[in-house]
Amino acid sequence: MRQARFDAARAAVHARLPVGAALGDRRRFLRIDVAAHRLDADEDTFAAELATLEALAAQADLITGAVFAGMSEGISWRTGVDLLVRRPDDTYLPVVISNHRVARPDARSATPVIATSRLGLGAPVEGAFRLRHHAADGYRLAFAARALAELGLDSGVGGSIGQDRSRAFLTPTAPLQPALDAALAVDLPTGPRRVKECATCRFWPLCEADLRAADDISLSLPGDRARDFRERGITTVQGLIDAGLGQASDLAAAWREGIVLLRKVDTVTAPATDVEIDVDMEAYLDQGAYLWGAFDGERYHPFVTWIALGGDAEAENFARFWDWLMGRRARARAEGRTFAAYCWSNNGENHWLRMSARRFAGRTFGDVRVPSEAEVQEFIAGDEWVDVFKLVRAQLAGPSGLGLKVVAPEAGFNWDVGDFDGEESVNARRISRGSDAAAMHARSQLLRYNEDDCRATAAVRHWLRAGAPGTPRLGAR
Ligand code: SF4
Repeated sequence: MRQARFDAARAAVHARLPVGAALGDRRRFLRIDVAAHRLDADEDTFAAELATLEALAAQADLITGAVFAGMSEGISWRTGVDLLVRRPDDTYLPVVISNHRVARPDARSATPVIATSRLGLGAPVEGAFRLRHHAADGYRLAFAARALAELGLDSGVGGSIGQDRSRAFLTPTAPLQPALDAALAVDLPTGPRRVKECATCRFWPLCEADLRAADDISLSLPGDRARDFRERGITTVQGLIDAGLGQASDLAAAWREGIVLLRKVDTVTAPATDVEIDVDMEAYLDQGAYLWGAFDGERYHPFVTWIALGGDAEAENFARFWDWLMGRRARARAEGRTFAAYCWSNNGENHWLRMSARRFAGRTFGDVRVPSEAEVQEFIAGDEWVDVFKLVRAQLAGPSGLGLKVVAPEAGFNWDVGDFDGEESVNARRISRGSDAAAMHARSQLLRYNEDDCRATAAVRHWLRAGAPGTPRLGAR
């Protein structure tokens, strides 16, 4: 499914790439597409490597599907580079395509950016964006820069095209090299260590047995979180418990005993209002929000569009949701009752509340209207918009983190739709755009998932308000 999403990303970018010079532009423009290949370990890509070198020798302005092979620190490697773009000084700019959000609009930042449709034709301009680093994209650019340097063609700059397919964001590649050197210098591991990828890895039953047999510290502190303790010689969960290192040792002991949450405070609380609405939003990549769900304590109210994002359908859906929410607030106020909308970790909701207003403000659809950004901002900043995750983080700690999927079961809530996670929801959204039975199934799953998240948030609130019963006090051992 990741491959399908990546293929879709690549196709969207390729559809925007130039195929010739603009009308009236008499410059030569040479684009060479290296034949498609797979980068599997056993695939022979020699022909693609050779075609890449030939395209560079021909001084093509734009090369797609390049493949380089090289050797660093005694390790041979091979890398695919989605695009190579010739610069005026005849060096090349490697560009990678990914499904990450590689930059965010930021008025205080200036980042060189070039339109995808002008790659190989135009020069970069400064844009008000802040880059976001993604390790895997950084390694790919670092490898590409390394291969180009060996050929004397390195421009010292690389580009990334992320969820916004219309732009390539540029960044120097020299700062990416130390991380690649460090990665190549690490010995290949001889056994497992729990990392976040284990959650979806089919080898987990095998690795978990090994980790448990070794009582590996990564069981309670996955990834790099145990690095400081490992450097101090603490490599097992029991070692961490016995070290008496405060919260880290208490959490390790809790993990050992199967305790999911601990209280950091004597009395756990949560605000209460007369009218309470739990909200959860689903967005598709950077393209828009397609589902605003709300649970009013009795009924779930979904505001959803299944057609392409970015147009009237998304705008109208958002306007209807906003009108409904503000209507509930107005009615509560008119009745002299207090009102609040609640959400679990509202960063995504805040982003799409603002972005929806920014893109569609003022559009009207019958009797509803998209609010202005100022109206949305006033709501977000007010105390009628409550982040339940913040309440949890301030009052609880847990060895398995504080995600909604971890906390809500402790509050007595369980999901109907198995463990439908964020990535599956992105896949389901892709499938839901069709009109076949699979699309209908994906739609009902997405609605169910969203409804359950709203109801789970409500359950956590009520449980917090009851003092989080059954949760031991941190440090009480
Ligand atoms: S389950 Fe094993 S193989 Fe899979 S990511 Fe975890 S450690 Fe690696």
